[in-house]
Amino acid sequence: MPNPVDKIKPAVRAIKAYTLPPYRASIKINQNENPWDLPDEIKEEASRRLAHRHWSRYPDFVPTSLLERLAAFAGWKPEGTLAGNGSNELIQATLMVCIGPGSRVLLSEPTFTLYRQIVTVMGGETVAVSLTPDFQFDFEAIRRRINGERIDLIIFCSPNNPTGSSARADQIRQLGQEFDGLIVIDEAYHEFSDQSMVSLLNELPNLIVLRTFSKAMAMAGLRVGYLLSSPDLVREVHKGTLPYNLNFFSQTVAEVACERYELLEASVDAIKAERTRLYGELTTIKGVEVVPSTANFMLLRTPVAPRLLFEDLLARDILVRDVSSYPMLSEYIRVSVGLPNENDQLIAALAEVIQSRTTAGV
Ligand code: PMP
Repeated sequence: MPNPVDKIKPAVRAIKAYTLPPYRASIKINQNENPWDLPDEIKEEASRRLAHRHWSRYPDFVPTSLLERLAAFAGWKPEGTLAGNGSNELIQATLMVCIGPGSRVLLSEPTFTLYRQIVTVMGGETVAVSLTPDFQFDFEAIRRRINGERIDLIIFCSPNNPTGSSARADQIRQLGQEFDGLIVIDEAYHEFSDQSMVSLLNELPNLIVLRTFSKAMAMAGLRVGYLLSSPDLVREVHKGTLPYNLNFFSQTVAEVACERYELLEASVDAIKAERTRLYGELTTIKGVEVVPSTANFMLLRTPVAPRLLFEDLLARDILVRDVSSYPMLSEYIRVSVGLPNENDQLIAALAEVIQSRTTAGV
């Protein structure tokens, strides 16, 4: 009997699933979440609204009230807004409606691994352009590629996961005018960088901006993301999402979070202040190099091999991300900015581990 798995697309069989081993630790700084929970006032108001709903009924086919709030929140139009089950779903929907065999997608590497994964599953091909040695987008190299060969779509993650670097609006504007394909900007971390490409949507009909409630908005467990683009493109990407992709529980909490953003803003400001403090203190540890970041995480290079450092920190109840398998990052780990006392513990633990590993000659 033939192996049923042979019916799976070869490009799919060739890749590993996108997953994370289930390590646990008290200090969890491996997934760039907001270390402060969603404020109780938002949870309570959402619970009040949910108690009045029929849970036996489907959500609306188009979550109009959420789209209106998202659009007002982002400064864009509701008919140019699409909500998703996390921004992951919208990355997938965008690529599903654009990419097939023969499509070519340009990525600046290292970046979020899901883009390459989904392009591959859809039968497309990725074209990698390396970031510069100091981890900035290399617009010159990107320009050479788009002028020299056919590229259908470019994805920028800005701020970029895992490097923390950002593109500037003038760079994207210029590229968007020159390039005849689509430009997708994943702004999962934009709140920490104080910049956004949303203001370019009016000028660039080929621009798609993706955002999430999983980071600054402190709702990773509820899976809400949104996409902003021209109404024409939104209508097409919508066809790549499932009906009722967003349950009404998550919709309701997201609506309240938009209405009461001032309650979340304090934690975003605190994360930015902690980022500055953490960066400053980590750079004083002998042998540690820290990559400046515009997001709520940063890359560290130390004299200790990333795997050993990961294990030594885990033994001290601190969970970081070993990113050494990414291009350019064989000597790096990534840490998210945690609560102030968590950051203190990370600083102390790193100094201790590096001291003991380097004097042990490892
Ligand atoms: N984009 C980037 C750059 C991310 O880092 C992540 C989460 N790690 C996502 C998208 C996915 O976010 P969501 O939880 O909204 O699916």
